Amino acid sequence: MVPDGDLQFGKDGVTIEFGPNANKNRSEFGKKLNDLIDSTNTWTIIPDVKDSKNFKEPVGGPFTKPANANGLATASGLPGLGSGGEIHIPTSKSEYEFGAYDPNDRVQLTDPVIIFGHELFGHAWFLNNGTHDGRPQKWGDRPGHDQAIKVENLLRKFLAGKNELKPSELRGLWANPMKGESMLRMRGTIEWKRP
Ligand SMILES: [Zn+2]
Repeated sequence: MVPDGDLQFGKDGVTIEFGPNANKNRSEFGKKLNDLIDSTNTWTIIPDVKDSKNFKEPVGGPFTKPANANGLATASGLPGLGSGGEIHIPTSKSEYEFGAYDPNDRVQLTDPVIIFGHELFGHAWFLNNGTHDGRPQKWGDRPGHDQAIKVENLLRKFLAGKNELKPSELRGLWANPMKGESMLRMRGTIEWKRP
């Protein structure tokens, strides 16, 4: 796709870097992004979350939908063959904004770049490799979502350029009372709601 360059997922979002040093400078997340681009599986990014102006049937929240079950690891932990799929993300056109419970069980607004990264690296990358946690993921009842949240927290540290972040800057995990769950609210309102 970019044979002479490199795609980087960095502080300024996604950038293309050209030149002989491009590959050398590739970050861990830049490598994962290239894994998806180089994959023989087809991945489609659709910016249709809660945007009723531009989409007739906008979806209700960010999510990644595998094309088939090959993206899931088996119950015994063996990898599947891998799959492509669809990544649905909100943009600045979305009428809602999204957040999640932090490790202290307070809802924090999530930067759309983090949401995009969560779907790309926490879900699509594992599905592409056939190593996505195979358990069903239903809001409030999904211990298998920790796989994605742990990657999200690494991305938060990477983008902040720090190894340590305040609890309010991290997302909670299944072990926390509110389980690091996703929340949403209409733009311009204060009250968070569950999706
Ligand atoms: Zn997720």
